[in-house]
Amino acid sequence: MSFKLENILRENIKKLVPYSSARDEFKGEANIFLDANENSYGSPLPLGAGQFNRYPDPLQLKLKEKISKIKGIPAQNIFLGNGSDEAIDILYRAFCDPGKDNVILNLPTYGMFEVSANINDVAVRKVNLTENFQLNVEKISEAIDGKTKLIFICSPNNPTGNSMDRESIETILNNFDGIVVVDEAYINFSKQKSFISELGEYKNLVVMQTLSKAWGMAGLRIGMAFASKEIISVFNKIKPPYNINEASQQFALKALDNIEQVNNWIREIVTEREELVKSLSGFSFVSKLFSTDANFILAKTTSPKNIYDYLVKNGIIVRDRSNVILCEGCLRITVGTKEENKKLLDVLNQYK
Ligand SMILES: *Cc1c(COP(=O)(O)O)cnc(C)c1O
Repeated sequence: MSFKLENILRENIKKLVPYSSARDEFKGEANIFLDANENSYGSPLPLGAGQFNRYPDPLQLKLKEKISKIKGIPAQNIFLGNGSDEAIDILYRAFCDPGKDNVILNLPTYGMFEVSANINDVAVRKVNLTENFQLNVEKISEAIDGKTKLIFICSPNNPTGNSMDRESIETILNNFDGIVVVDEAYINFSKQKSFISELGEYKNLVVMQTLSKAWGMAGLRIGMAFASKEIISVFNKIKPPYNINEASQQFALKALDNIEQVNNWIREIVTEREELVKSLSGFSFVSKLFSTDANFILAKTTSPKNIYDYLVKNGIIVRDRSNVILCEGCLRITVGTKEENKKLLDVLNQYK
């Protein structure tokens, strides 16, 4: 393997002179800020709501320090995005020349990988997962050519719920000269070890996680990418200067102190998941439940559309995945609270 960052960076990004914000140019102590055309008088928020008249820290250093302690990864190896979706988009813009380069997706998987490719006019080479929803390493290797820049691997995978075999991911990391993106949005629910421990080993690895799922902060829009400091510098060059707003930074800082609460929820969600699997398997209209490492269950049913509509009529929304490749008949059900899960099962018990 001969991965070299400069070999796969787009020429325009290599040459890019990034925007330099007021807060990038001044570092140090001061108490009169007349450099950014902000309103020095304040913001018209009710008392106690906080003051947001100043631009936020462009590199979110306090928040990264806190994440660094939790994850055991230096802050310089962390990028924070306005959701993981921003990190996905930046990967395309950094590495893929529109109309020329391609990426490999392993289907079925998270929809944003393909949408972001389409927005950036980057060709998608689709490789189906195997019958067990595992990576088809042989087909992936056949799909790679000189224009393949990124391979996206989602583990645990959305919408199937399973984790990918570690050796398969390592084989790809070892044999691909482009970037391997491992999306671990659901890693907190999995027994598998995160790939962030492999960052020292693989210069072509980008691991994505998020505060949206287990951490319970989907509304704040904070996604994380972990990679070599060279790759992180590229991300920082491309991102909008103030991509994580001040309110999100402040709330996330507070929430990350409550790691115990989150761990308790994770344990409870995993317990509920197992209960839900047991109960769902008793329904005659559920023909298969796929093993899951995430906070959702993929259930193959005999009549997905009818069940979906029936649930909607009863005020319960699940995700119809029955049109997705290899997911014929499938509904994706997020594990809710104990009460929500009970309501779901009660309603399904009445389904005819
Ligand atoms: C939910 C999800 C995300 C999260 O995206 P955010 O933009 O961080 O909310 C990322 N990847 C996968 C596979 C997901 O299912």
